[in-house]
Amino acid sequence: MEQILAGIIARDPEQREFHQAVREFLASIQPVLEQHPEYRRLALLERLVEPERMILFRVPWMDDQGEVHVNRGYRVEMSSAIGPYKGGLRFHPSVNLSIIKFLAFEQVFKNSLTTLALGGGKGGADFDPKGHSDAEVMRFCQAFMAELFRHIGEDTDVPAGDVGTGAREIGYLFGMYKKLQNKFTGVLTGKGLAWGGSLIRPEATGYGVVYFASEMLALHGKAPEGKRWLVSGAGNVAQSTVEKILHLGGTVLTMSDSSGHIYDEEGIDTAKLAYIKELKNVRRGRIREYCERYPQAVYIPADSTLGWNPLWRHRADCAVPAATQNELNGKDALHLVEGGVQLLCEGANMPSTPEAVEIFREHNILFGPAKAANAGGVAVSGLEMAQDSMRLHWSREEVETRLRAIMRTIHRSCLDAASVYGRPGDYLAGANIAGFTKVASAMLDQGLV
Ligand code: NDP
Repeated sequence: MEQILAGIIARDPEQREFHQAVREFLASIQPVLEQHPEYRRLALLERLVEPERMILFRVPWMDDQGEVHVNRGYRVEMSSAIGPYKGGLRFHPSVNLSIIKFLAFEQVFKNSLTTLALGGGKGGADFDPKGHSDAEVMRFCQAFMAELFRHIGEDTDVPAGDVGTGAREIGYLFGMYKKLQNKFTGVLTGKGLAWGGSLIRPEATGYGVVYFASEMLALHGKAPEGKRWLVSGAGNVAQSTVEKILHLGGTVLTMSDSSGHIYDEEGIDTAKLAYIKELKNVRRGRIREYCERYPQAVYIPADSTLGWNPLWRHRADCAVPAATQNELNGKDALHLVEGGVQLLCEGANMPSTPEAVEIFREHNILFGPAKAANAGGVAVSGLEMAQDSMRLHWSREEVETRLRAIMRTIHRSCLDAASVYGRPGDYLAGANIAGFTKVASAMLDQGLV
């Protein structure tokens, strides 16, 4: 395994996020490899860490002043072993090939865990929708799709939203795809309800995180009710996480954006959450404005010189990082332990650094890894694809019941796999092993392709 890691580092030395994701994965699956020597002979891991296809393309577009800009678009099609490539599109200035490859790699095993027939992929662009008019965002999305459309399709590759790509962007992308292909198909998920979307899709990732956390707590005779929660982020995943915590009787103390976080000792209730949704989804404002509306709350600006994030310093019982990768480091993990946190469930992809994960392990903090805990989003995307194929719509109750059942199954698969391979109670190992074994056996069945 060290050889494999050394190989990918030598080939792409600058792809740090991708190396981090592969390193964590390889560390977990050692016990599986010991029982399956044929994986080595057939270079299964070497094949898994190399994307089936990577598409990089120019995205030229014009702003409202008539000035031309050029961004770079990406689609990494990582694995189609168990289904069409599936994974979101991220529009954020930090996007590069390393980040898209790490996300695509994680997506392969996450999708495998959902029980649905979904391969793994991810894409995006180094474009920041923040600060652009709707017309500019539309022109960017149209230019992006003017190239991507030839690589995707409802049975080939089905993108969805991610950071910076919400309902507005999916609408513009879908409109352009439909025009270019002259076909109305379920080629993207996260669509509007009037044009092929699924109920509960916008809420699915956060709801799924809280369902997963509930399963973890239940094993220890506990529940989300009455617990104090720290949540980071204020986007899609954070909003739906907070909503479900409130449904289940928990208290949420924090939310954030990249400029800073708010702390509300009285708790963010349903009315305050509605304000945040309007602030973020409609007015596209900053989280600090929350304190102008609710002056009892405090705003603490982000300070990268600290080397730790003050959001994770508050006392609480449970935590959900739901903003971005590596947002929670070893120091933050120690602060959480000192502050009494007993459970951390990852809403974002790879939000905890390896040092943080090690500290959770040392202190017996219940740790729900992203691959398993945030799989609810892609699971309901899979349900959206099923509804599109059948050309019918399920009710809110039907979709949420299926989501709940899928999260329960994922939780059980993690525990079972961890226990079969000698790592009882280790959700991280369990998620990697359970996700991997299904993909590996499909690859063996399909030969060297
Ligand atoms: P959104 O764009 O809706 O929200 C992202 C939030 O995170 C915003 O509050 C944003 O603040 C903040 N943020 C982004 N980058 C940074 C940064 N570098 N530092 C601090 N804060 C940051 O994205 P989502 O909610 O959809 O995604 C959040 C995470 O969840 C990502 O890791 C994503 O991959 C993961 N995820 C999303 C799924 C989905 O269904 N949407 C499914 C599974 C995982 P600001 O506005 O200031 O940028």
